[in-house]
Amino acid sequence: MSLNGATTSARVLVVEDERDIAALVAYHLTREGYRVTSAGSGGEGLHAASTERPDIIVLDLMLPGLSGYDVLQELRRRPGLEDVPVIFLTARREEAERIKGLELGADDYITKPFSPQELVLRVGSILR
Ligand code: CA
Repeated sequence: MSLNGATTSARVLVVEDERDIAALVAYHLTREGYRVTSAGSGGEGLHAASTERPDIIVLDLMLPGLSGYDVLQELRRRPGLEDVPVIFLTARREEAERIKGLELGADDYITKPFSPQELVLRVGSILR
């Protein structure tokens, strides 16, 4: 029985360069039955999004190379990926950026430090 009462095998792409955070998020999502792919940079994330066709993307804002915005903007331009839900991960000091993310079409955001359980619940509620 999963946390939100749903059985799911939805695919989640986690784009996060901080390995500890990526591993923690992947662990909690996998435990709830999600199939998780991780990418450590924006470029890698875009590639994984194109090949894996995830049901939802958890996207860190601060990434080496392409930022989370760049990735989001690019996703919204790509056929087949323009509608994939995106949850942004941002640090608290980045409020203006959070707003920009929502304007660019992010579906939700989570402020670091965050509870992995909360992230799992938000993923579930967006997919429901
Ligand atoms: Ca980061």
